Amino acid sequence: MISITLLGTAALVPIPERALTAAFLTCGGHSILFDCGEGTQSAAVKAGVSLMKTDLIALTHYHGDHILGLPGLLKTMWRMGRTEPLYITGSEGLWQKAMEPILRLTGRTAYPIELFELPAEGLQLCRLIRGWASAARLTAFKTVHKVPSQGYCFTLELAGKFLPQKAKALGVPVNQWSRLQNGQSVPLGDNIILPE
Ligand SMILES: [Zn+2]
Repeated sequence: MISITLLGTAALVPIPERALTAAFLTCGGHSILFDCGEGTQSAAVKAGVSLMKTDLIALTHYHGDHILGLPGLLKTMWRMGRTEPLYITGSEGLWQKAMEPILRLTGRTAYPIELFELPAEGLQLCRLIRGWASAARLTAFKTVHKVPSQGYCFTLELAGKFLPQKAKALGVPVNQWSRLQNGQSVPLGDNIILPE
């Protein structure tokens, strides 16, 4: 199931009931944060969602009302003991216009921060982050704004027909079949069995 929480929908200036831009997507225990305006952390607490295990942050552009919540969030993740890598993608100029100054403010983090560009055809998220459903794909598309900007399309392709005889032949234990049916891979010894 895909769940999207709109954490902030205000522009330029936050108001008591509307934080600046941020949306949080969860799917199968994994999550993506789209933009991170000022007040995103408070808005998440209010909405009852935790941003601490966010796998990936996708930024649309680098105006302050879309990114100024990032230094605080990155620092909180560190304080909360995060060790897993955090992946960050964005429009043109991700390092120079956003992450270089933000990381200078944030300082050291105990977890790795990996910047990456989405390929034009989109990315099957399990190829970057272990545990995502193989059917989950993130694609960027250009949007019209005063500065280079992009939107994102998250898709969950329909699962194919489950073939129990094939799972059996591959030696996948029956109690793991539901993972394959849900589009997740199953580690088996030194191998990983993909739903395909
Ligand atoms: Zn803007």
